Amino acid sequence: MSDKTIHFKIITPEKIVYEDDVDAIYAQGEAGSFGVLPNHIPFMSVLAVDVAKIEKNGETKMFSIIGGAFQFKNNEAIILTEVAECGSDIDTTRAQHAKERAEARLSSAETQKDIKIANAAIARAMARLKAAAKS
Ligand code: ATP
Repeated sequence: MSDKTIHFKIITPEKIVYEDDVDAIYAQGEAGSFGVLPNHIPFMSVLAVDVAKIEKNGETKMFSIIGGAFQFKNNEAIILTEVAECGSDIDTTRAQHAKERAEARLSSAETQKDIKIANAAIARAMARLKAAAKS
């Protein structure tokens, strides 16, 4: 295993969204943002619905990450998540419409469950728009 790069995978139940050797990974944990460089000490975090960024040879890639978990050990890192997309694959019109639909649902929500579902849909759409905007 190289001590200069991190072997990184983003995995969903459906597929491997990304796999490559990278120079750095930045993501949003539930307790705040974090970054790992090669040779970081072993680290785990629950992930927020937000974006993850990788750096490789001076270039960056952004991904929307719909929650899940991050693990780093021995220069191998993995994000396990229900859903993730590479920023360049995101349909921003779809995400914008999803956000608007969820905002309308939120404004007419009558139960805590409705509020929770609408807020979760808004968070997914915002993560996608953020990942696409920075890609
Ligand atoms: P929508 O209401 O637009 O379906 P959603 O947040 O309910 O959004 P999810 O259930 O999180 O969608 O995702 C369902 C599938 O659609 C996943 O495979 C996800 O990668 C894909 N997907 C969702 N939104 C987008 C988007 N804006 N661009 C590309 N793929 C998307």
